Amino acid sequence: MSNANKRDYYDVLGVSKNASLEEIKRAFRKLAMKYHPDRNKEPGAEEEFKKINEAYQVLSDDEKRKLYDQFGFEGLNQSGFNSENINPFDIFNQFFGGSGGFSFNTNDDDGPFGDIFSSMFGGRRRQRSNWKNQAKFDQDIHAQITISFLDSILGTTKTFDINIKKTCDECGGNGAGNHGKDIKDCPQCNGRGYVISQTRTIMGIMQSQSICRKCNGTGKIINSKCSKCGGKGYLESLQTIKFDIPSGIKNGETIVINNQGNKINSVRGNVYITIFVQPSKIFKREGNKLYTHVLVDPINAICGGVISIPTPYGIKQLKLKPYTANNDSITVANMGIKDIRIGPFSKKSNGDLILIINYAAPNRYKSKQLDMLTELAKIENDEVKHYNEKIRKELER
Ligand SMILES: [Zn+2]
Ligand SMILES: [Zn+2]
Repeated sequence: MSNANKRDYYDVLGVSKNASLEEIKRAFRKLAMKYHPDRNKEPGAEEEFKKINEAYQVLSDDEKRKLYDQFGFEGLNQSGFNSENINPFDIFNQFFGGSGGFSFNTNDDDGPFGDIFSSMFGGRRRQRSNWKNQAKFDQDIHAQITISFLDSILGTTKTFDINIKKTCDECGGNGAGNHGKDIKDCPQCNGRGYVISQTRTIMGIMQSQSICRKCNGTGKIINSKCSKCGGKGYLESLQTIKFDIPSGIKNGETIVINNQGNKINSVRGNVYITIFVQPSKIFKREGNKLYTHVLVDPINAICGGVISIPTPYGIKQLKLKPYTANNDSITVANMGIKDIRIGPFSKKSNGDLILIINYAAPNRYKSKQLDMLTELAKIENDEVKHYNEKIRKELER
């Protein structure tokens, strides 16, 4: 832009030639808010916003202002100032808090507006204007369900009652009466959704910003509520969804049910159901393997008798090999988890069941059994016989 066509900086900000820095700041704040392209969609608003920022950058800087006062645009150009290099949003961000040391207070750090403010003042330009038109609910529904350990291994079918929301077709989702038209800009914040206040501190004047209480940050005031949704902007209905939980599902995994979620206009979201699995008192899972301890009668184990073992598929009988010792482990093939899913994190496989043999305590034999065992004990065990010989040799003199 050639200098000849440029508007005087004082005119741009609407201040007099001898305006104080405070006056310049005040004028800039007001105009920058008014013309910020995220808020103002009028044609030429962005151009005006740029001019305001350029004017402010010069008039708020002592040196630049002096140059401009004495030599006009030409003087600034010769000093290396080039308005084409200005990013008007940088100035705006500096002024309103991006990196300029101002503090912002959004009242509700975790609320939806924290994000709006950070997108508006954090330097990145996002389509802030969208938030006012956003639906008052999420498209996706997140839920969780707890199932038994056995259900996780065998798979199951569950039904789930959820409240499905859909955009109110009467008001189009803004909650206002007269088909969504009975709505106006909030007079408290002029439709901005937030208010700015100043506090004097030892560090200087601090700007702080908070959600407009009158409109709750929406920037809009509804004159009369939509009669169909009562102002909520959406309609709710309880729906029962039925879904399968595949065998082998792990604790914390999520099942996605496509196109069963909330409906915003004509688009339906998904339902994400996180599955929590109750721990088992008997089994421990590792991948698709299951581990379990089996309590056995030591005599039965030595003799190679038949024992009862727990499996997810019921109690089964297993014939032990003779001489099965305490803490021996026995692998029963394909009696673990049958994962029917094939995907990046799971492949179709049948896991094994691993049994750890635990001898029952010796003091649990009744006296009659003890009498019978006494007979057996007369036949000396080979290992004990060798041991007795060894200690005798060592200790004999
Ligand atoms: Zn409505
Ligand atoms: Zn307001």
